[in-house]
Amino acid sequence: MNNKIFSGLEQMGFDDVSHLKIYKEKNIENQKNEIDKIKSLLYTKTLKCPVCGNEFKAISVKSSAYRAVKKDTDFFIRYDLINPYFYDVWLCNKCGYAAMKTDFEKLYSREAETILEKITPKWKGREYPVIYDVHIAIERYKLSLLNYVVIDSYASKKAMNCLKLAWMYRLIDSDSAKEMELMFLKEALSGFQDAYYNERFPIYGMNKFTAMYLIGELHRRTGNYDDALVWFSNVVTTPGVKAKLKDLARDQKDLLKEEIAKARIEAEKCSQAPTEDFEVPIKKSSIFSKLFNK
Ligand SMILES: [Zn+2]
Repeated sequence: MNNKIFSGLEQMGFDDVSHLKIYKEKNIENQKNEIDKIKSLLYTKTLKCPVCGNEFKAISVKSSAYRAVKKDTDFFIRYDLINPYFYDVWLCNKCGYAAMKTDFEKLYSREAETILEKITPKWKGREYPVIYDVHIAIERYKLSLLNYVVIDSYASKKAMNCLKLAWMYRLIDSDSAKEMELMFLKEALSGFQDAYYNERFPIYGMNKFTAMYLIGELHRRTGNYDDALVWFSNVVTTPGVKAKLKDLARDQKDLLKEEIAKARIEAEKCSQAPTEDFEVPIKKSSIFSKLFNK
């Protein structure tokens, strides 16, 4: 291609600029090295599907490959190098059975029959690349959730699956992803509340006190401030709760009080706005009416 970007400069002595490009092309070699590096953090694990007996290979992350760098207040762990959540769902490509790996092999025969009856006839199969990204992870977590719903799993399983879906959407920077995150946080909350009252703990390594905190935090994140305060207060005042968890609940309670104060100031500002702007204050005050007009 004739490069005219620097044309005209030849007469000034720059006679070797016609091949220059403004932006460097991403080095293909570098990209290849990056892919090889990620692949070196993965290994394949041979599994036998508990539904159809098919032997297949699941891609897993070597436990030495990732390091936690940050933990969100709803226990979502941020990792560097590679994200192990992307590889958390195991899927049998023959029959369509999918579950989070801790649950994959624990399946009753009547549940396997239900999957053969309701999932397998519709399953078309799907080939995934070796390296998964957040969109593949979301798809696989949804397949897994569908399986849990079809076999009517415990609320805690569906709730954990929803929570992980919310976390995956948190990694995507868009308004629609934020909406999806909120939707899945609400679903997770409803399942964990059910599990709190009806299931035996621990669940997914969580004791009842940790679940109590998580329920408070999910209430806070979904805007149920009154409920969040109640659950956090329960964590703080219940005997036997570890100091670290109590501290976390106290921190979130303080944060929540700040959020409520901020919302109150906003609501007051809106109620003092001139009448021609009435649409805005009415809309805003309705959002906060549950909180402040009692
Ligand atoms: Zn199978």
